[in-house]
Amino acid sequence: MQTYDLIIVGGGMTGIALAAGLADSGLSIALVEAADQPPHWQEDKLDIRVSALSEASRQLLEKVGAWQPMQALRVNPYQGMRVWDSEGTAEVVFDASEAGVLDLGYLVENSVTQLGLLAAVKDQQNLDWHLGEFSMELSEPLDKTGSRELKLSSGKVLQAALIVGADGARSRLREWAGFKTREWDYNHHALVTSVRTERSHGNAAWQRFHSTGPLAFLPMNLQGDDHWCSIVWSTSPEKASELMELNEKDFNQQLTQAFEGRLGQVELSEDRQIFPLRQRHAVEYIQPGLALIGDAAHTIHPLAGQGVNLGFMDVVALTEVLQQAAGGKQSLGSLAVLQKYQQRRKMDNLAMMALMESFKRLFETQALPVLLLRNLGMKLVNSSTRIKRGMIARALGLKQLA
Ligand SMILES: Cc1cc2nc3c(=O)[nH]c(=O)nc-3n(C[C@H](O)[C@H](O)[C@H](O)COP(=O)(O)OP(=O)(O)OC[C@H]3O[C@@H](n4cnc5c(N)ncnc54)[C@H](O)[C@@H]3O)c2cc1C
Repeated sequence: MQTYDLIIVGGGMTGIALAAGLADSGLSIALVEAADQPPHWQEDKLDIRVSALSEASRQLLEKVGAWQPMQALRVNPYQGMRVWDSEGTAEVVFDASEAGVLDLGYLVENSVTQLGLLAAVKDQQNLDWHLGEFSMELSEPLDKTGSRELKLSSGKVLQAALIVGADGARSRLREWAGFKTREWDYNHHALVTSVRTERSHGNAAWQRFHSTGPLAFLPMNLQGDDHWCSIVWSTSPEKASELMELNEKDFNQQLTQAFEGRLGQVELSEDRQIFPLRQRHAVEYIQPGLALIGDAAHTIHPLAGQGVNLGFMDVVALTEVLQQAAGGKQSLGSLAVLQKYQQRRKMDNLAMMALMESFKRLFETQALPVLLLRNLGMKLVNSSTRIKRGMIARALGLKQLA
């Protein structure tokens, strides 16, 4: 049996970020990760899992020492964004200079973010890795403070005052502890791939809203070539299966057409992968001795690229709460401590989820009055710098812009 102050289950982006944020806390930490190898990354090929990171996430990654190693691999800042409706003429154009910021965000392969975080924790003294280990069994609380034992696949048993579930959307920890969730199917599957386009993306993110779901072309630079885009095509499960079956030539043609050929022909496309999309939110994020962060606590439609950004904000809040508790010699797993974390994050996450749901429904509707209002609304937004600055601040994870 090994005893720690904190066990983190899941060494994805949010789990490692939490460990990195607590480097100077004086807490002893175990990180349990099922994979036994770091993620694979190639200089001459894009990882098809890409996330748009906000400025607030960049600040966290910089603070924990991950941003620099990430930049050494590949980070794609973007300055423009164009959003339009397939059923009309309205278009909203966002520009970093109009909002007085340098960049609207950063497109980064998930493998790069993970490798940057791994570089940041490489020599971290208070962190023990348990790699290639599944968490297998969670005990009931051992005492009033909620301290628990966790059994790993190798048979090792770890004990800690607090166990954090950062084990992703299908969190086993959430299930074993009986956390209730509210969830529903978006009835969308996201097809992801990367493509080379005839014209340069101009460092802008492009998103066309179809009634069947949004199609995004996200600007990537591969070895100085700015014709590469990461694709997130959210559509009905049936359409997604059809697209998966197409040969490369037909797929490229359909993609070019669905995007109105705005960047010319799609010339090359890589392997495709499909992700069924589900909205999920844990009713509570905490129990005595347990807390959920990232996708273990909430999953959201990728249409505004907010999933891991919300997860990183969970990390910021939980890091601060645990540092305070450690300084004040409070038990990390007590509800009095953990409630501060939940209070800071739940409303924020819920508000973003509600906003994404209303966007999705708004663009699904085909009724003529809604269609006209939608186009009018987009035109209004596009003509108002004030509204656009507010929207950009929200997307950047900042309260307001300077
Ligand atoms: C198509 C698509 C596009 C997206 N685009 C964006 C975007 O642009 N911007 C954005 O912010 N977000 C985006 N997201 C969301 C983002 O990918 C997720 O929010 C993020 O990956 C969640 O990170 P996590 O660390 O919480 O969980 P995960 O990445 O799922 O990591 C969980 C880790 O736990 C490990 N694990 C699981 N079970 C166990 C166990 N029992 N024992 C030990 N280890 C275990 C796994 O191996 C894994 O390493 C997108 C999602 C999709 C599907």
